Amino acid sequence: MSRLRVALIAHDKKKDDLVAFAQAHSVLLSQCSVVATGTTGSRIAEACPSLDVTALKSGPLGGDQQIGAMIANGEVDVLIFFVDPLTSMPHDVDVKALMRLATVYDIPMALNRSTAEIVLGAGARGLIPTDQD
Ligand code: PGA
Repeated sequence: MSRLRVALIAHDKKKDDLVAFAQAHSVLLSQCSVVATGTTGSRIAEACPSLDVTALKSGPLGGDQQIGAMIANGEVDVLIFFVDPLTSMPHDVDVKALMRLATVYDIPMALNRSTAEIVLGAGARGLIPTDQD
């Protein structure tokens, strides 16, 4: 089975939570191909040197849409997107666009830590297809 391809995004104050999640699962994530939006990716790479993280553009500059394009191209197996529900809604269109694509291409999408734990656990057990097209 090929490596699980995981996309990571965190908004605003949720970045710390996603870094903590990546640290807690660094052994598993080190066996995955990890892509992230710019700032999120830099934060994770700094906190988890064992991970090979590809950082795209920052979300507001198009990083979310780069991940959307990767989903459309069948290049992402799992999307973990920690949105910050306690801020106003400037990222709302980005969240909706990725929810739409995750639905269209039927990939697991986690919007909070408990779901991310379940999804990554399923990935570790080989329950998530890795070669969607
Ligand atoms: P960032 O992008 O990781 O570059 O902050 C996330 C986002 O705002 O979508």
